[in-house]
Amino acid sequence: MDIGTHFLTGVAIGATVTNEPSQLVICGLLAVAPDLINGIPSHAYLLWKKRKEIARFGFNKALKVGTLERWKEVPQFFGWLYELLHSVWLTAALVWLLWIWLGPIFGLAWASHILIDLWSHKEKTDFKYISSIMPFFPFSKWSWPWAISWPDYLWLSPILMLVLVLYIIWQLFIGH
Ligand SMILES: [Zn+2]
Repeated sequence: MDIGTHFLTGVAIGATVTNEPSQLVICGLLAVAPDLINGIPSHAYLLWKKRKEIARFGFNKALKVGTLERWKEVPQFFGWLYELLHSVWLTAALVWLLWIWLGPIFGLAWASHILIDLWSHKEKTDFKYISSIMPFFPFSKWSWPWAISWPDYLWLSPILMLVLVLYIIWQLFIGH
C-alpha cells in the first residue's frame, strides 16, 4: 500500500488509546518502517548510481518509475531485506519486542504494515510495478492468492486516507 495510508493506519491505531502527539508520530512511523528501512538506502544507492542519467533525462525516466526495472539496478541484498521485513518471522519478532518494550499499540502499528500489504501487493506479469509479499520468505516463495495490486486501485487510497483521518479526529477530539 502507499506510504500515506500506512502512516495514517499507524496513527489511527495509536489514536485509539492516546492523544500524545509524539506517540502518534512514532506509531505512524512504525507502520511505514518496513518500507522505509529498505526504501531509503536503496533509493539513495540508486540516486548515486544513476546520477548522470537523472541529470540528463530526469528522475522518472532514468529510474523507469512505474516499473520494477529499477530494482534490477540495486544489489540483491535490498530485495532480500524487503522480503524479510515483510515476512511473518521478522514481523512476529519485532511486533513482540515493540509490544513488550513500548506497548501494544506500537507492536500493532508495525503489524498493520504486513497485514495491509498482504492484501494489496500482487506482482503482475504484463506491467510489473509492485512486488508480491512472500510471508514465509526465505523458506517459501508462496504469496497470498487473494491479493490485489494497489496501483490498480489508486482511487481507493484517498478514500482510505479520508476515513482514517476522520477516525483519528474523532478519537482525538470526541473519543477520549
Ligand atoms: Zn510494504
